[in-house]
Formats: sequence, structure tokens, C-alpha cells
Amino acid sequence: MIATKHFNVLIIGAGPAGIGAAIALSKRGIKSIAIIERNDKLGGIPSFYKKKKGGIRTFVRWSRGGIPVFGEDYAKWLEKQLVKTKVQIELQSQVCNIDAKKKILTLVNNEKREVNYSADAIIMACGSREETPAERGWLAGSRPVRVLFTKQLLRLLDGNHLLPMNNPLIIGSDIIGYAVAAKLKAAGASDAIIVDNCSKPKCGFFERLYFRMWSNPNYKGLSAKSIEVIGNKTVTGVMFNGENITCDGIVVCGVLIPNSELALNGNIKVELHSRQLVVVKDYQLSESGWFATGNMLGGFHGAEWCYFNGRRVARTVTNYLSNKPMNLEFKNEKR
Ligand SMILES: Cc1cc2nc3c(=O)[nH]c(=O)nc-3n(C[C@H](O)[C@H](O)[C@H](O)COP(=O)(O)OP(=O)(O)OC[C@H]3O[C@@H](n4cnc5c(N)ncnc54)[C@H](O)[C@@H]3O)c2cc1C
Repeated sequence: MIATKHFNVLIIGAGPAGIGAAIALSKRGIKSIAIIERNDKLGGIPSFYKKKKGGIRTFVRWSRGGIPVFGEDYAKWLEKQLVKTKVQIELQSQVCNIDAKKKILTLVNNEKREVNYSADAIIMACGSREETPAERGWLAGSRPVRVLFTKQLLRLLDGNHLLPMNNPLIIGSDIIGYAVAAKLKAAGASDAIIVDNCSKPKCGFFERLYFRMWSNPNYKGLSAKSIEVIGNKTVTGVMFNGENITCDGIVVCGVLIPNSELALNGNIKVELHSRQLVVVKDYQLSESGWFATGNMLGGFHGAEWCYFNGRRVARTVTNYLSNKPMNLEFKNEKR
């Protein structure tokens, strides 16, 4: 691979984490930075949560006293900060391959041309995605109409203004499950039943309290091994630990897993079971000069957490570039 362009830092992914890193690196005086994004807009996941009248704001600005905002507005705020810098923005460009040793990325750019970029340091900020129900292995039975994944439901609700169910059952009790219950109720459905294989909901108390403004779902938690879908053409219910629960639609909230395939293909160490990147120390990956930030690090984190995490990684990367010893203490860093 021969690189066509060289940068100080390349960032893969322009979600909150990648943008946070780009802004902080720029403020720290790093001259040539490029951020590469496969979508045609900046902001990552929040950019897909459209602002609409009567809609629910699910992105919390903790740094502004905990104000909830629409994802689209949060993405626009990120964009506004980023365009003030001299960071090179490459939209509609997908990184398809990496050479971890030489620190070279192969990307297909917006002209459908394959180009190679190299850098002194590379930050992976590719985010995470919902694991499919099949991968999750918790859903048994047939798959009739109206068993939807969160993304499909949001596309119907927000994109097409369609309400596909009136008595919903939601599988998965983390924040996404409660946000979905609120969105369904706001769109005209009844209060959802949420089921999960743990006695208490995974969603935190304050988040549940916030979503109570729209809906008060009924939680059923058991350490059941599986949940069986009932219904021939359309869903009529589920069998959960011997109990027959009726519903006319199911939303399956997957577990978030990091988008770590690129790293895996490039021989950067990844834990195969969880698909989490192996962090050697302080956001550094197993190959020298490679770093990760945001939801790529695993777990479930809100957008604002990812943005500040990106800023913290920028400090580690700056230290790496100037060959300073790594500083593990971030507590005093100014936001
Ligand atoms: C379905 C879902 C719903 C969520 N809902 C909420 C919510 O309501 N509120 C909340 O606070 N948080 C929510 N989250 C969490 C959300 O992911 C974080 O808030 C935040 O967006 C994560 O930031 P990030 O920058 O790490 O990743 P992302 O926002 O996912 O951004 C990663 C970016 O990298 C790009 N990318 C990935 N691979 C490549 C590649 N090879 N080449 C080029 N570009 C690439 C992607 O296109 C994407 O734009 C949700 C997450 C999911 C998956």
C-alpha cells in the first residue's frame, strides 16, 4: 500500500467521540487532522434522531445541567464546533481496510475512488451497533409480522409516521427499551410491557423517571433462558417463563456491541466473545499509534459521555505524538 496523503492524526468516525477528539486535538495545536465518515452527515447516531413536534428528546446534555435535547440538535451543535476548526472532513468515505503496522487506511471516498491515507496516530471512533436477536440467542419461536428491531421501529415511527402496534411488548430493559416505550406511547400506543432476563430493569432510576413523563411500562423480569414468540401470521403474544403474555407487536432491543471488524481484520487485538478492543493502556490499542474512543470501547454510553471521552483521548494522542510519558490522571482536565 502506498499512501497518497499523510496526516498527523486520522480519525475514523464522525460521531460524538470522533468529533470530540478532533476538536480537542485541534485546540491542542495539532496541525493536520482528518476525520473520515461513511455517512453524508456529521454527528453519528444522534444525527438520525429527528427533531419533531411532540417528539421525545433522548440525548441528555449533562454539561448543561442535564437538559434533554433531540439527537439532531445535538449533532448540529457538534457540527458547529467542528467546522470552526481546520480539521479536514471527509464525508461519504468509508474506511475499508487498515495496515496497522504502517498506520495506513484504505478508504473509498465520495467519488467512489480508493485512496490510501497514512498518519502518525490513528483514532478509531467507529461506535457500536445493536447485536441482532439471532446473535443474541434469546428469542425462540417463529418470526411473524411485527417483530421489529429498534431501528426498524424508529424508521416506521419517525420516517413514515406509522404506528405498527397498539399493545407493544419490548424485549430489553436498558435505556433504549424505555425510550422506545415512551416513543410508542407518544405515538398513540398503550403502555408497553418490558421483559428482560434480570430481576430489575437495567435502565437507571433517573432515566426511568424521565421517561415516566410519557409512559409507565410494566416491567417483567425473570432469569428465563429464552422467550418464545407466539403467532402465525402476526404476533399474538410471547411465552415467558410459563406465562402467556399477549401483545400485538414486539420490539427487540439488541445489546450494543462495538464496530470492531476493521480492527480485527487489521490484526489489532479484539476480545472475540465481547468484540471489545483490547486496550493496552490509556486508550492505546495493541498496535503502537492506534487509539480508540466512545462506544467502540464497549458498554452503553450516552452521546455526551462519548464526546468528552473523545476529548480525553486527544490528550493521550498529543502526549504520544510529542513522545511525552503518558499521564493517567484526567480528573483535572477542563471541559
Ligand atoms: C440504536 C441506538 C440508539 C441510541 N440511542 C441513544 C439515545 O437515545 N441517547 C443517547 O444519549 N445515546 C444513545 N445511543 C448511544 C449512542 O451510540 C451514543 O450516544 C453516541 O452516539 C456514541 O458516539 P460514538 O461517536 O462512539 O459512535 P457513533 O455515534 O455510532 O458514531 C460512529 C461513527 O463512525 C462511523 N463509522 C463507523 N465505521 C466507519 C468506517 N469504517 N468508515 C467511516 N466511518 C465509519 C459511523 O458512520 C458513525 O457516524 C444509542 C445507540 C444506539 C446503537
